[in-house]
Amino acid sequence: MNNSALYLDNNATSPLRPAVIQAMTAAMGPPANPSSVHGFGREARMIVETARTNVAALAGCRAADVVFTSGGTEANNLALRQFSQVISSAVEHDSVRSVGGQQIGVDANGIIDLDALALVIAAVDEADKARTIISVMAANNETGVIQPIEEIVEMARAANIACHSDMVQVLGKTHIDFAASGLSYASLSAHKIGGPAGVGALLVRPGCGLASLIKGGGQEQGRRSGTENLLGIAGFGAAASDAFADIGHYVKMAGWRNAFEDRMMAERDGVKVLGRDVPRLANTCCIAAAGKSAETMVMAFDIAGIAVSAGAACSSGKVKSSHVLEAMGAGAAAGEAIRISGGWANSAKDFEMLADVFLRLYKQSA
Ligand code: PLP
Repeated sequence: MNNSALYLDNNATSPLRPAVIQAMTAAMGPPANPSSVHGFGREARMIVETARTNVAALAGCRAADVVFTSGGTEANNLALRQFSQVISSAVEHDSVRSVGGQQIGVDANGIIDLDALALVIAAVDEADKARTIISVMAANNETGVIQPIEEIVEMARAANIACHSDMVQVLGKTHIDFAASGLSYASLSAHKIGGPAGVGALLVRPGCGLASLIKGGGQEQGRRSGTENLLGIAGFGAAASDAFADIGHYVKMAGWRNAFEDRMMAERDGVKVLGRDVPRLANTCCIAAAGKSAETMVMAFDIAGIAVSAGAACSSGKVKSSHVLEAMGAGAAAGEAIRISGGWANSAKDFEMLADVFLRLYKQSA
């Protein structure tokens, strides 16, 4: 049984928004293959295309640029596996890291080393450029640290190399304008914005090709075959629409998060916030309490009724050491850092309760 009364692990997944449950429930009734020409099929097609329009509005692109996938993992694989050379960063999600290639280091705040990236780009042979892609996440899932995507896109453009960004964690939390970004591809996921897991999208810039990974019936304009996940897509569309209306929530959340961090640092010695001095997502706090292991803190928070996480959640349920914090050279803090991540359902009061519990737990450990 889940005894957590307060959920602050939204970078792992977020609770379904009421409008999402409504949209998915409504889509659940009739038989619905969007490729069927009869009335049922046409209704299902309408649901898919409305959702596509909503996702496009949130991401700042044309509906035609949205290719629905089974999530962020597939979107990352779909974008990158077309290329034989991938240049990424040392702090990417495992779905990018698993593709392999060169990984550029980051500084102590987790920001990619642009000089090192420039050197790697300069070493790409002219003949290999069409087979090379640069992939850097817009914001990190563990620290919330935002990468200088505009500069990276400019470097890629000047070298005539394609550029992809994993935008899973920024979607719905900051303004995104994919069309203006200059990116060739971007990955999105529904379950980080109050939609269901198992659905996401790859955004494809007009004129950029896409070699499909999954071949079959030619759905998604031949770019991703398989009968559409109607319930998931309906939920993603509703989540996107709500998130679009709700983006100001995260402006307020930055204030609640910062007040929490300020109080922890003022009232306790040995508290360190990773990435605090650089641009970060408003909802994320990666905080270490000296001498207290992250696993112990996560369990203590759980007992106190607050769900947070340590390192990246792993499929086995165990906490593995974080490649992100190691790449940042976090030292002891890598084993002590917990991740607190707010979402659409959290309020200022939640961060106040978090602060009270943190102070209580950290006093016990000191
Ligand atoms: N990219 C980032 C930055 C993520 O945080 C996640 C989810 O944890 C993914 C990709 C994978 O998305 P999905 O769970 O939809 O496959």
